[in-house]
Formats: sequence, structure tokens, C-alpha cells
Amino acid sequence: MPENLPAADPSRRLQAIQVEESCLDLPLTRQIVARAGNLPVEVVADRPDPAPAPVPYPHSLTAGKRLLHLGRNRGRFLKPCPATRQYRCCDYQVLNIGANCPMDCAYCILQAYLNNPWLSFYVNIDDLLDELDQALAGTPGTLHRIGTGEFTDSMALDRLTGLSATLINYMARKNNAVLELKSKAVVLDHLADLDHRGRTIMAWSLNSAEVMAKLELHTADLETRLNAAAQCAAWGYPLAFHFDPIICHPGWEEAYRATIRRLFAVVPASSIAWISLGAFRFLPALRGIIGSRFPRARFIHEEFVPGLDGKFRYFRPLRTRMYQVLLDELSRGAASRTCIYLCMENDTIWQAVFGFTPEERGGLPAMLDATLPPS
Ligand code: SF4
Repeated sequence: MPENLPAADPSRRLQAIQVEESCLDLPLTRQIVARAGNLPVEVVADRPDPAPAPVPYPHSLTAGKRLLHLGRNRGRFLKPCPATRQYRCCDYQVLNIGANCPMDCAYCILQAYLNNPWLSFYVNIDDLLDELDQALAGTPGTLHRIGTGEFTDSMALDRLTGLSATLINYMARKNNAVLELKSKAVVLDHLADLDHRGRTIMAWSLNSAEVMAKLELHTADLETRLNAAAQCAAWGYPLAFHFDPIICHPGWEEAYRATIRRLFAVVPASSIAWISLGAFRFLPALRGIIGSRFPRARFIHEEFVPGLDGKFRYFRPLRTRMYQVLLDELSRGAASRTCIYLCMENDTIWQAVFGFTPEERGGLPAMLDATLPPS
């Protein structure tokens, strides 16, 4: 591990880079390889099959997370968030910059979602920007909320890729889009002097200190994330936080309240655009994967009920209680303009937690859009 990189930068965990042959001369490939210093670089065929691993998937993930594969996205970069129509969703759009993550959260849904172990990043960035240009120019009256943190962590590889600076500069010139960069890492060096015009929201996932320490391996700890957020607020970035997944564990009520108290002690509430709450939910295949990769994890052995989207969730009374507890503590410190919302829940739970449904406030997308600075 390189000595001079902060522990909160997960790119320090990489051990090797693979480059698809046709991408070798792309400018971004060259920059990444140069920034990677002494990491070994192997040139491989375009679209290679996963190299035979000494252990099968998902056990190969542990080693795969240390191999960065640089290739070309041959499909679309921008897609609607894979939400489910049975639950209230926020109309997010996913900018697909790569897949997998060098950090290792026991509950990570990507373990069941992906089928190869390595960490991939798309280097045909000009194609990504062209596609964004077309999407935004084609719908000038629509505000697009775009995030890169669906199939990977937005900032985990940023020291090498520099992608966030490119996207922040791009979004600063657009009046009908905002970007959310969501992370459990802290990689800030290149964000200080950017003219972001408030069009990029810097976001961190938060959890109880116990969940962060035991289930979120190789991530930044709570204080590091909060100090980074405070720094971004000082640079004028809007902020967001995601309590997702909320996990039932002994003492969870006080543990989540303690995290929220630290949040408002460190971060200016007036800088926070939105805060989401989402109770732990998972695809059925994830239970066996967690059991085999994290055999000491107890949280997967709670009682769950299948939801309308095929994912397992806690029973409704427990979910409702979780949201009520977190909302109670958040309400003590949150600014009135901050939108606190539930991720992928139905109107019954919204009504029980907030006393209203998103429809009564114009819909969740409108509630989120109202928190943003005027373009
Ligand atoms: S940081 Fe996010 S993407 Fe990375 S392992 Fe954890 S949950 Fe998965």
C-alpha cells in the first residue's frame, strides 16, 4: 500500500491495472496509468472474459476489488435509476461510469448484482460527455438529477481518474442538470478551486458508528466523512446525506441518534439540500453471498418479508419505527429547506412517518428540486 495516501482514499488498495487494447492510447487511460505510479499494468484483449480465478465468484471479489480494469462502455452511459414502480422514487438518472468498488461493505447489493469480480472504469469519457450533451439539449425544460454512485462509489477512484473534476466543470455550464457525487470515501484534493456554481451536490452515506466500523470495510470513518462534508460546504458545494441502509442492531436507536447529533455538530445544516432514509433491503441472492463472505455478520439473520419488487425488507412496523426515530432526531437539527425523504417506500409508510404523501407535496422529484439553488 502506498505510504503517502490517506486511509480514506480507497484507490490505495489497488494492486494492478488492466487496460483493454483499444483503450491504451485514450487520454484518460494515459492519465490514470501515470497517476497510478508503480502499479503493474497489463494490456488485455477488448471485452475479455474474467480471468480464471483461484476461487469462484463471489469469493473472487476480495481479490477482484484490487484489480482495476480500464475499458470502453459500449452501451449507454445515462439510464433511469432502476427503481420499482410500486414504491415512491425520486426520478434519479444514473450515469454509469464503471462497476464495483474497492471498498467492501458486507451489505453491498453489488455483490449480488454484478457477475465479475473486478473493478471496472470506462475511459471513453468523450462518448459519455457527448451522450450527456444530447440528453440535456434534447430536454431543455427538464431538470435532470444525475448521480454516478449506482454501480460503484462516485469518488473511490477519483485520485486516479479525476472524473469528478471533469463532471463538476461540465455541470457548472448546464442549467438543466445537477450532479450528485455520493461516496463513503474522502478524496477532496482537486475539488477546492473548481467553479462548480452549486450544480454538484457532494454526498456521503452515513450509518451508526457500529455499522460503519463492522460492516463497511476500508471506508472513511464517521468523523472523516463529516469533516470532508464541512470542507465541501466551506467551498460552497451543496451537500446531501444518505442513511441507507438503516440496519437493525442492538442499540440502533441511540446509535443512529448519536450519528445525527455528530452530523449537525460538524456540518452546517444550511448547506444540506437533502437527506434520504432507506431501511436495509436486499435481493434474495445476497443472503447466501453475505453468509459466505462475512460469516460472522448477524444482520442478515433478522426476520424479513419479500417486497413488491422481489427484495426482502424488514417488516413494516420496524421500518416505520426506524424512520420515525431518525426523523425525530433529524428534525432537531435540519434546516427548514432540507428535504428529508424515504428511498423506495410506499405511501402508507410515508403517511405514518411524515403525515403526508409525496403526491400531496407535488411529488418527490419536485420536493427535491425545490431545495436546489436557482440556475
Ligand atoms: S461503498 Fe458502496 S459500492 Fe462500495 S462496497 Fe460499500 S456499498 Fe458497495
